Amino acid sequence: MVEPRYSSISLVRSGLSGKCPRCGHGQLFSGYLTVSERCDVCGLDFQSQDAGDGPAVFIILILGFIIVGAAALFEIFAGPPLWLHLLLWTPATLGGSVLLLRPFKAFMIALHYKHGLLAPDQNDKIL
Ligand SMILES: [Zn+2]
Repeated sequence: MVEPRYSSISLVRSGLSGKCPRCGHGQLFSGYLTVSERCDVCGLDFQSQDAGDGPAVFIILILGFIIVGAAALFEIFAGPPLWLHLLLWTPATLGGSVLLLRPFKAFMIALHYKHGLLAPDQNDKIL
C-alpha cells in the first residue's frame, strides 16, 4: 500500500505544539503527559512509541546546567543567604521541569517517527 502523503512537519514544531509528527494536525497527548493511542486525523499509532527516560535526561542536563550556573554566578557576585537560593532555584527547577517535559517528550516521539522507530500502522499492514 502506498502511504498517504502528508506535508512534513518539523520536529521542533511538533514538539512545541504537541501535534502528530506525520500530519501536524492531530493531538499527540490526551493528558498533560499521556500519549494518545493514535492520531485522530491520520491514524498514526502512538502506542508503540517509547520515549522512556530520554526527555527527562535532556531536561536534567539542560536545566541543571542553566540553574546551577545561574546559582553559582548569583552566589559569586551577590552572596545571598541560603534561604534566598532555596526560594529562587527550587521553583525554577520544578517549574522548568514541568514546563519542558511535554515539549521534549513530543520532540522525542517526533524523532522516533522521523527515524522509523514507530511501528507501522495496522492499516498499512493489512492493506
Ligand atoms: Zn496525524
